[in-house]
Amino acid sequence: EDLTGLLLSRIRDVADYPEPGVMFKDITPLLADPAAFTALTDTLAGIAAHTGATKVVGLEARGFILGAPVAVRAGLGFIPVRKAGKLPGATLRQAYDLEYGSAEIEVHAEDLAPGDRVLIVDDVLATGGTAEAAIHLIQRAGAEVSGLAVLMELGFLGGRTRLEPALGGAPLEAL
Ligand code: IMP
Repeated sequence: EDLTGLLLSRIRDVADYPEPGVMFKDITPLLADPAAFTALTDTLAGIAAHTGATKVVGLEARGFILGAPVAVRAGLGFIPVRKAGKLPGATLRQAYDLEYGSAEIEVHAEDLAPGDRVLIVDDVLATGGTAEAAIHLIQRAGAEVSGLAVLMELGFLGGRTRLEPALGGAPLEAL
């Protein structure tokens, strides 16, 4: 069984969640399977290494679950990018638009510095709005994005095209 087949077999499609018309990609079966979770972690850690990452950023909340073991496996520090209002220290904050309204994400300012190369990890790339905000946050801290690695890319939503300018040539890897 190849990696893609293994991962696909452990992702569950949930119709009409969290609202009618949405097909939700549920990764909990993958997390519950140690062979699949390990294969995913090792592959993402390899991407961290070959993009020259010095830190791993995970996007709340599933990006925490996937990104933290990647950081440990790659021997790098893990940095959470959180929804606004959850981090206790001095933060940088970035707003972005949602389908209805807007949202904000934050990072601890002291966690990123010029010279850092950051691999961003999340489960799903949809419209790219969340990842785009995270890239801007990292760049505002003076750090560089080494790449963006996601388990799944919902290609029909055009996130990859949207992210091209912000990524500036850094790779977007979708498993
Ligand atoms: P975007 O900002 O539109 O690209 O949405 C990406 C964010 O929404 C990520 O943090 C994902 O975790 C979450 N997301 C969007 N669609 C799904 C899905 O089908 N399953 C799990 N998470 C999703």
